[in-house]
Amino acid sequence: MKEQNLRIIGHIRQLGLAALLTTGLASQAQTTLWEGHTDVGIVYEEGGWNLHIGQHEATPPMEYAPNEAILGVDIVAASNTVPLGAEWSFLGTAGSSLWVLPQVQDSALLFLGFGTEELESGVFVNNEVTLSLQGVRAPGQFSVYEVGMFGSPTVFMNSGDGITGADSIVLPAGGHRHMNWAFSTPGTYEVDFEAAGTLVEGNVFTTSGPITYTFEVAAVPEPGSASLLALGGLGLLFARRGKSRK
Ligand SMILES: [Zn+2]
Repeated sequence: MKEQNLRIIGHIRQLGLAALLTTGLASQAQTTLWEGHTDVGIVYEEGGWNLHIGQHEATPPMEYAPNEAILGVDIVAASNTVPLGAEWSFLGTAGSSLWVLPQVQDSALLFLGFGTEELESGVFVNNEVTLSLQGVRAPGQFSVYEVGMFGSPTVFMNSGDGITGADSIVLPAGGHRHMNWAFSTPGTYEVDFEAAGTLVEGNVFTTSGPITYTFEVAAVPEPGSASLLALGGLGLLFARRGKSRK
């Protein structure tokens, strides 16, 4: 019995440390964005690419490096099902669960688009750049698509059928475009994007290399509760342990 208690205390210490580390890291390095107008911002300046996450309509306006913020997908508000019809089969079987950040703003969700407003005209051939999907590390399928005036989708990126050069979107300098972002399973999605284009000057092709953006399809935590959540998690764990020993 004593040995058992000691082991539990050891366990509490370990968990406490883990919780501290987790919350410490989260508050230092990464903010999760759950709502508001947000863009994957693509800039080319001073001879280099700058991909970021912009919340330019926020007060104050915010800009994050891709590894400084997590793009949150509220598991409740984003909950959907794959529609019926062959044009939707890229998302999976009709009726199966799907979580979507829509191309039309929903105040309960992140309103995520691609922003190339800061790309100056005359820098790239045809005044355009390509953003391509390079990799997805995730528990499920990731897709980016647009729904047209008549309700049918145009798929730009889809990890469900493998990732090729076709998983890309051409964006005009000075542009701004919103899409639907779909996830087939809750969890963390690490998505690698690469921006590329041909510079007018010297006709030189340039690419950013893969840049990782992180999406989290999960429940939105209660306000200001990162540490409470960790404590709650501990409580739950012990409640469960207590039960299982009966
Ligand atoms: Zn936007």
